Amino acid sequence: MLESTMMDVPLTIPTILDRMKLLFSGSKVISYLPVGIDPETKQPIPGRFEETYGQLSDRAHQLMHALTDAGVKSGTRVATFATNHYRHLELYYAIPSVGAVAHMVNIRLPDEQIVYIINHAGDEVLFVDNVFLPRLPAILAQCPTLKHVIVMGAVPQLPSGMTDFETFIAGKPTQFTYPEIDERQAAGMCYTSGTTGHPKGVVYSHRAYVLHSLVSASSEMMAVTERDTVLPIVPMFHVSAWGYPFTCPFVGANLVLTSVLTAPAFIARVLQDEGVTHTAGVPTIWFGLLEELDRAKAAGSPYKLQKLRSLLVGGSAAPRSLIEGYGERHGLRVAHAWGMTETTPLGTLNNLKPEHDALEPAARYDVMALTGRPAMLVQLKLVDEHDGLLPHDGRTPGRLLVRGPWVTGSYYDNPEATAASQQNGWFDTGDIATINTDGYMMIQDRAKDLIKSGGEWISSVDLENTLMGHPKLKEAAVIAIAHPKWDERPLGVLVVRDGFEVTKPELDTFLLERGFAKWQLPDAYEFVAEIPKTTVGKFLKRALRDQFKDYKLETSVTLE
Ligand code: ADP
Repeated sequence: MLESTMMDVPLTIPTILDRMKLLFSGSKVISYLPVGIDPETKQPIPGRFEETYGQLSDRAHQLMHALTDAGVKSGTRVATFATNHYRHLELYYAIPSVGAVAHMVNIRLPDEQIVYIINHAGDEVLFVDNVFLPRLPAILAQCPTLKHVIVMGAVPQLPSGMTDFETFIAGKPTQFTYPEIDERQAAGMCYTSGTTGHPKGVVYSHRAYVLHSLVSASSEMMAVTERDTVLPIVPMFHVSAWGYPFTCPFVGANLVLTSVLTAPAFIARVLQDEGVTHTAGVPTIWFGLLEELDRAKAAGSPYKLQKLRSLLVGGSAAPRSLIEGYGERHGLRVAHAWGMTETTPLGTLNNLKPEHDALEPAARYDVMALTGRPAMLVQLKLVDEHDGLLPHDGRTPGRLLVRGPWVTGSYYDNPEATAASQQNGWFDTGDIATINTDGYMMIQDRAKDLIKSGGEWISSVDLENTLMGHPKLKEAAVIAIAHPKWDERPLGVLVVRDGFEVTKPELDTFLLERGFAKWQLPDAYEFVAEIPKTTVGKFLKRALRDQFKDYKLETSVTLE
């Protein structure tokens, strides 16, 4: 081997921070935070707070001093229990820049899981939003490793033993000398939602975050630059808000952070008033916004969203009807993406090839509904149950394996989960997918949600996505019900729009017209007020399976 002559410059978070200060100190972080409750509507009243990247950098450096004065050093785990706002962003930079590890705790987990992950991570310091203080007594009593609690936001009376964030950093110098940081050391950690068993910890390196940001910003992916204003509606407490807190400052794009305020009319107004150019969220957010945009347009006062050029959707499958609805009725592009906590999370993103421009709209939306092509440096493959490679023909479903510099190679302190998910340098996603000849991947299902009927697979996601395009339906989830002859058969669980009724024959026709075979149709439908959701707004199929575990299918289908 011949040694190269290149410098070995580590890829670290302080590199992003220094660049933000040097080149983009005027770019802004705009935070909307609840400042009270409207007595009439009972809805939170949003306050608007503005900070420049220059100020953010100064305050992050003050935080670094405060953290090290409090005993935080290389490897110390510092937990954040917070929504999307500028102080949380300051922590995203300060904690890794002193060599410590930012553990973003998912605030929506139940208390016992929060206790589990704080103890499992061995967190020593906790930064908490004022609004979550009432939850703390039950948690703190069971977390012996926590030595300091710092509260973000004003409180009438600070509980004894806790410090106010502004007091914590007050008077500290705005210049901190970074310790030497190895690009492979831990910078952050998140736990998966743990739909089964305990949550599993994923630890992100500086290098992974930096490479992920570079590729995310690239014109092939989110295409963000200094000219952009970005609103990530994905939480900073779950998968680092899809990396936007690092991607945007790296290129100088303004960031808009809206805490937990996600009401569709509020989001629409922020998109308009802040001149947002790019935004990202899970399908649930975009369903709500689409209804609001439709309503405003029908009322003759549409929102002015001329600057908005893309809405990224991921986290669960985005139905084609959603993508088409935005495109046809509002001229807005929805870009479908896929990723997981274990992939930092950018895995794939749907961008069209030049030849797709010539397609008829219907055919173009078919392509846009696919889950996208792998990001640079990410590799995908499909395997069967014996780990044999499957073809990328757009038809053959298989277990989706992924590999790349921001894909986890293990779970933190969890050899069993690590062994179950790693395969000769590849990570088994637990998803079933197809990949077409152009390299576009399509998630068919979570392996555990697939319906195995008479030796064939039925994709619950496919059925759900199509059903959700039915004008009378608001939500649709499809689960497997045990069947004496066919092993499993699909049951549709539906939420009907107010004032409508829908029948099985009507839905059968709707599905048959859209290419489903008769044997793939749900045997029955049940109607509910709401589909149970996970902490991040995905359908909680496990809860539905529990609810309908003794369900007896009344229809006797002939599948031959
Ligand atoms: P959890 O919700 O368990 O914490 P993640 O938030 O990491 O996990 O979610 C990852 C999973 O979400 C993926 O494995 C996949 O099943 C699903 N997912 C993410 N994006 C999409 C998408 N665009 N289409 C379908 N499924 C998706």
